[in-house]
Amino acid sequence: MPAAKFIFVTGGVSSSLGKGIISASLGKLLRARGMRVTIQKLDPYINVDPGTLNPYEHGECYVTEDGAETDLDLGHYERFLNIRTSQDNNVTTGRIYQSVIQKERRGDYLGKTVQVIPHITDEIKRRIKLLAETGKYDVVITEIGGTVGDIESLPYIEAVRQLKYELGLGNAVVIHLTLIPYLSAAGELKTKPTQYSVKTLLEQGVQPDILVGRTEHPLSPEIRAKIALFCNVSVDAVIESIDAESIYDVPLLMKKEELDRVVMEKLNISGYGEPDLESWESFLYTLKHPLRAVRIGIVGKYIELKDAYKSITEALIHAGAANRCKPEIEWIHSEDLQDLGEEDFLTRMKKLDGILVAPGFGNRGIEGKIRAVHFARTHRIPFFGICLGMQCAVIEFARYAAGLKEAHSAEFQSRASHLVIDYLHGQSEDVEKGGTMRLGSFDCALVTGSLAHKVYGKENISERHRHRLEFNNQYLDRLQEAGMLASGRNPELGLVEIVEVPEHPWFIGTQFHPEYSSTVDAPHPLFVHFVKAAMT
Ligand code: GLN
Repeated sequence: MPAAKFIFVTGGVSSSLGKGIISASLGKLLRARGMRVTIQKLDPYINVDPGTLNPYEHGECYVTEDGAETDLDLGHYERFLNIRTSQDNNVTTGRIYQSVIQKERRGDYLGKTVQVIPHITDEIKRRIKLLAETGKYDVVITEIGGTVGDIESLPYIEAVRQLKYELGLGNAVVIHLTLIPYLSAAGELKTKPTQYSVKTLLEQGVQPDILVGRTEHPLSPEIRAKIALFCNVSVDAVIESIDAESIYDVPLLMKKEELDRVVMEKLNISGYGEPDLESWESFLYTLKHPLRAVRIGIVGKYIELKDAYKSITEALIHAGAANRCKPEIEWIHSEDLQDLGEEDFLTRMKKLDGILVAPGFGNRGIEGKIRAVHFARTHRIPFFGICLGMQCAVIEFARYAAGLKEAHSAEFQSRASHLVIDYLHGQSEDVEKGGTMRLGSFDCALVTGSLAHKVYGKENISERHRHRLEFNNQYLDRLQEAGMLASGRNPELGLVEIVEVPEHPWFIGTQFHPEYSSTVDAPHPLFVHFVKAAMT
């Protein structure tokens, strides 16, 4: 089997230029040509994984099937490429140091002084090569987080330098993404920041092979020629990345710029036809030509930062396209709902065609979420509760339909008399936080004839989890007698994974996170049916 080819993606000048989307778009194009592609993200921060990060820091924590808590870019990779990523697809500085220090403690370094070079860089290189060594991929794209020139990304750039040299010409390329700002006073695009950024890379021993320039205006042939000349790249390797209407336009824009062709040329890859983007293009068409709109309220407590709910908003976009309908999102701060007077509350909520109560941790805004569930249930508005949203649905139902006035979750009121949501076996508020939740995919058996069964069209499913608490099965009979149905349960442990209210037009709460597995090619059925319900 031929060895995998490596593509490194670095960023310069500024953060937030869309390295993740460029990597995912390139991955998509290569995959659409028939290559087996995976994408990996290296993050230069010291957290071992982003699981312990507040969503305000880096946006949502994305969870893979094998239970890795990862950067949200992995969500883009899965959604664009319709692939599954794993523990090996996201590596942080914390993780690198953790393995090196463990090896040092075991005595693996045989008395040597352990240093950034070669030990940290060797561990980075090992992690980069790991995916290629599985033999499952023709191409491995490695996105280096952060911006070139940052102190913390130095070891990563050094690892790229060494690897590029070791792998030899034609086996690895470096794509550098920079900003080409437009100075309106001068009416000009400016290339100097790109030149400086490339110089910084050169100082670190890396000559980029391809430059992608993020810009608000098209790059003229003159600007391209200038960048090529000053940065030692061929003109066709200067790629324009113009602001797009939607992230889903970017693969097509990159195709127009021939990024995939240039990469293949530099990596001596041949024997693949043009990318087959038919289904992508028809998705884009339906996305851009909705026949109608629905208003979906997302109730959460991190709504100031939309990235905190990235997978949910993307899953709604996929579901909208599948229904030829545009979901217009109304962001609702759960804390605001708590304090609203009844009249204002009703005015706010009555505008909505569907209500989604989001995942989350901690007490803040919890009563607002429960109030939103109560409204959705009693006004028969389509309701979708995810993880904490499902737990709120159980609390609401216990309180107002099953008469357990003091129903609560042990996460918020451990002394409440009815803990309808309680810690999973072995979990408590005292367990060490990093990587200790119930994480990753678990099986779930659906009750025949339930709404969930109808939505999925099958009886056994597997979905991704990230939680410490669960439905307390001691209350199962009481809540079912009052009209709630536990329509999905884990076959081994009996844990309730899905609740619904059969007499309601569309009311579903899931303990798992369906949003993580929705992709452009395979929109998640729960989101598709939720949007459909909101349309009626
Ligand atoms: N805080 C809840 C738990 O740990 C819900 C978690 C979530 O919404 N991801 O069970």
